[in-house]
Amino acid sequence: MKIIRGKRAGFCMGVALALKKLDEAISKYSSKKIYTLGPIIHNPQVVNKYAQDGVVPIEDISIIKSEDVVVIRAHGIPRELHKKIEEKGSIIIDATCPKVKKAQKLIEKYSLDKVLLLYGEKDHPEVKALLSHAQNKGMVFSSLDELKKMDIDPHKNYFLASQTTQQRQEFMEIVKLLKNKFGKDFPILNTICDATRLRQQEAIEIAKKSDVVIVIGGYNSGNTRRLAQVVRATGTECYHIQSPDEIFPDMIKGKKTIGITAGASTPEFIIKQVEKRLQNLK
Ligand code: SF4
Repeated sequence: MKIIRGKRAGFCMGVALALKKLDEAISKYSSKKIYTLGPIIHNPQVVNKYAQDGVVPIEDISIIKSEDVVVIRAHGIPRELHKKIEEKGSIIIDATCPKVKKAQKLIEKYSLDKVLLLYGEKDHPEVKALLSHAQNKGMVFSSLDELKKMDIDPHKNYFLASQTTQQRQEFMEIVKLLKNKFGKDFPILNTICDATRLRQQEAIEIAKKSDVVIVIGGYNSGNTRRLAQVVRATGTECYHIQSPDEIFPDMIKGKKTIGITAGASTPEFIIKQVEKRLQNLK
């Protein structure tokens, strides 16, 4: 049995940077309470590890006090929320990914005289934060089909942007549709992150060479779920798992080549554990 591991599997730049900032905050503010707004990344094992260091993920900011430290994760947070925390006087460590920050700034600029059409998942924290930079007036859709059903006013000026982790292929179809409808000058902000695109491309290549592909990452990680989707679209058997205990002999029985890839929030130690488990099951 041969195992092909994706070179791009695991942490992206934004996630690595956010964890670095959290580690620095833990050493610098050892006597203070440290909160993250939502889990620092969408990976339960990593979140549990930080819980042991006293880092508490919260959804409701009412418990934050002026002396506390608040770490903003890579997805960013809505502007209104940022302002409320600032008003409390708490120490804010902004670990928003630089690429997400760039998307926020571009959306803010274009929203001055246009309405945002945002290709993304409505309930995703990054999408909520991006929307806040369009004065919460944007329209969110998660697929080409959904966009087709939306009530778009032909007399308004729109522009298109995307959640950083969306699928490039579908984004390009969306671009085509909007350019056909509004003309070739329709404004497009290509805010899809390269890390996602390259990881997805690599996953497709691995899927073509493999009998089965194991995609590792949190079930709540959007980019991991999409990675599994692009692999499944190739027709290759695929399993999305969160930890090595979810691999059973039946999944790899009779398979000659097994591909491995992982989402942007999957730590290296879990990828290694999965490789080891597969080798032990050989
Ligand atoms: S996937 Fe891209 S945009 Fe998202 S956190 Fe990672 S580097 Fe940043």
